[in-house]
Amino acid sequence: MSVQVISNEANDADLPSVSITMLGAGQEVGRSCCVIKHRGKTVVCDVGLHPANNGLSALPFIDELDWSEVDAILVTHFHVDHAAGLPYVMERTNFKEGKGKVYMTHPTKAIFRLTMQDAVRIGDNSNDPGDRLYTEEDLNNAWQNIIPVDYHQDIVISGGLRFTPYHAGHVLGAAMFMIQIAGLNILYTGDYSREEDRHLVSAEVPPIRPDVMICESTFGVHTLPPRSEKEEQFTTLVANIVKRGGRCLMPISAFGNVQELLLILDEYWDAHPELHNIPVLYASGLAFRGMQVYRTYIHTMNDHIKTRFSRNRNDNPFAFKYVRNLKDFRKWQDDGPCVMMATPQMLQGAHSRELLEKWAPDRKNGLIVTGYSIEGTMAKNLLKQPEDFIGMNGQKIQRRMTVDEISFSAHVDFAQNSSFIKQVNPQHIVLVHGEASVMGRLRLALQSQYADSDVKIHTPRNCEPLTLTFNSERVIKVIGSLATKHPKPTQPLAGLLVQKDYSYTLLDPKDLKDFTGLGTTEIKQRQSLRVGVSWEVIRWHLEGMYGEVEEDVEDDKAVFRIMQAVTIIHTSDQELTLEWVSSVSNDMIADSTLALLCGIDSNYATIKLTSKACDHGHEQETHAPAHPHPHSLAAKRKAPSDEKPGPIKADPAVLTDIQLLRTFLLAHFGNVSELVTEELEGKEEELLLLRVEVDQHEATIDLMTMVVTCKNPALRKRIVSVLQMAQTTISSLSSSFRSTTYTLENPAKPAATESDKDASAQDHKDPASLGIESTVKTEA
Ligand SMILES: [Zn+2]
Ligand SMILES: [Zn+2]
Repeated sequence: MSVQVISNEANDADLPSVSITMLGAGQEVGRSCCVIKHRGKTVVCDVGLHPANNGLSALPFIDELDWSEVDAILVTHFHVDHAAGLPYVMERTNFKEGKGKVYMTHPTKAIFRLTMQDAVRIGDNSNDPGDRLYTEEDLNNAWQNIIPVDYHQDIVISGGLRFTPYHAGHVLGAAMFMIQIAGLNILYTGDYSREEDRHLVSAEVPPIRPDVMICESTFGVHTLPPRSEKEEQFTTLVANIVKRGGRCLMPISAFGNVQELLLILDEYWDAHPELHNIPVLYASGLAFRGMQVYRTYIHTMNDHIKTRFSRNRNDNPFAFKYVRNLKDFRKWQDDGPCVMMATPQMLQGAHSRELLEKWAPDRKNGLIVTGYSIEGTMAKNLLKQPEDFIGMNGQKIQRRMTVDEISFSAHVDFAQNSSFIKQVNPQHIVLVHGEASVMGRLRLALQSQYADSDVKIHTPRNCEPLTLTFNSERVIKVIGSLATKHPKPTQPLAGLLVQKDYSYTLLDPKDLKDFTGLGTTEIKQRQSLRVGVSWEVIRWHLEGMYGEVEEDVEDDKAVFRIMQAVTIIHTSDQELTLEWVSSVSNDMIADSTLALLCGIDSNYATIKLTSKACDHGHEQETHAPAHPHPHSLAAKRKAPSDEKPGPIKADPAVLTDIQLLRTFLLAHFGNVSELVTEELEGKEEELLLLRVEVDQHEATIDLMTMVVTCKNPALRKRIVSVLQMAQTTISSLSSSFRSTTYTLENPAKPAATESDKDASAQDHKDPASLGIESTVKTEA
């Protein structure tokens, strides 16, 4: 179980906002380039070229960005409008000076190289070599630095920045990216399709809800016919053109929907023997070379292809039976009806344009536009059914051939797009990759769908940054043993807060290693010292200092454990070893233990305890202390306040304290006796007094108030001094922590005379050095 703690504390500096800037494909189709900036991270999605433009004018507005600051460039698919600007950015800008990395899927990387090599060779659709944006060498250098990734792989780029590619349909290798920057999720769809065709899987709905979805809008509010209808329309049209003796021209790009068309036509020809004498050709060496990539990446395609291939390993769907590659375009004999697929797709030049100009005047021939035609290209112009058009050499050419458009460009239509957006369920929708008017209509349609929700729809123009701000809600995940009990609203949760890449986790320190992989170090301290007293004497002193002492045997050696922190091992007769795990409090306890042990030998009480048998009933001959160390008298005694003292006679601990005190006094004054209450007339309260007699002088000590009464001031002073020393010695450390300190009503200690100074008085340890305040109440 994990518990989430959500903090709503707003901190202005912390308010997360993301900036999205389109350097291309903002209210247009072509030269896709989207810059996402958040919390000091910069991610660029796609670097395309505009197919209608040449040279530098085909590039996105790359000068608007410092490319050395880019952390990652993610390329969705190999199409020119998404990937063809990449070698320029990688090799001809300051991108190389930074630490940025470039990612695309494996099939995209494989096809990208082929298409780019072709583009370099034919000169970026331009006849002017000066228009070339990069050389083959640039391309090779760039290509080697592209990191290929797999679908569903979680790729961590740097602290707080990661992404996962998901299937986008559209073309082989196409991916949409779920990008996570400092906890903010952004989905960049690239071009995507939701229809499962003959070889591609359809786009997946990512498992997490993004905060922002940057979504293509190519077809706007357009509705495409169902696939079966479209296929039938297509094959019928192709068959009609060749049956009337015409040549059927289909301008294609080397990769993408052409592979799909080839699959459809091969299947159709197989089923129609009457067409077997009519050749189906594709005039693209690039498409031919690329077919190997398609044969290789069958595992990334849909079940239709995968099952066909798994049934028969020799039946690779991309090894066609009827469709042939036209190897040498120049040697080809154009002598009758045929189906010809030729590049480029938008009739900008080369084979498709050459054939168009040759075949356009004959009304038996037919042109079928199957891909998406970008504004400003010949393909787009011809769809307007012009009477004539201008040839590559500037001549006017009659257009009598039929012109039809059956789009196999794998983009979503309105119904698919809006239902996908609904499933993805983002907070912000950013529409890109659509003509301004088309996008505008889509925006209106979506706005009416989301009228009752707080979903925002944006259509940024190129170079106009869109800034989105989010609630500064911070989530802290409580995990491990801390999360086993469900917290109650008023109950505070305490634990160790671990921050990693803008995500917060609260856990019990002992779970740190298991849940975070963070290591903890334990320093074990060990110190040995020689002591000349018995184990029992040591116990007596320890109990005096700490109250209770746990006694145990470890590895056949007697041990004491002090406050569950320090272990004292009776290593040998004369030697003790202290062991403790280092920490602020444990070190303090160890220090006090060491101080105590080092002073034991010279402590007066030790001398008394070990050299002289007690004179009040204990007959032990050993060096064992006559009295087990009780909790101190101080602890048992109530603070001298206005409270009445309670009966104390019955408390054995207090009685032992009194005996200890008596021992002290005996050692100093020789004659000490106890007075019972009955001896004092008129006293109703139960009192405990000790009488000290020295050379006919008599003094009484009230053990409740520690008031010394004596007619001889010198003796009184001396007794007070001894009492102070005794008090310090017998009051235990732990009880001192528990009990309140005494109030010193008369802070002036009786000045000690020369004669007062004896060995024991000098031995008196200053209790303040142990962090204890303990004073004896005196009365002048
Ligand atoms: Zn595309
Ligand atoms: Zn595109």
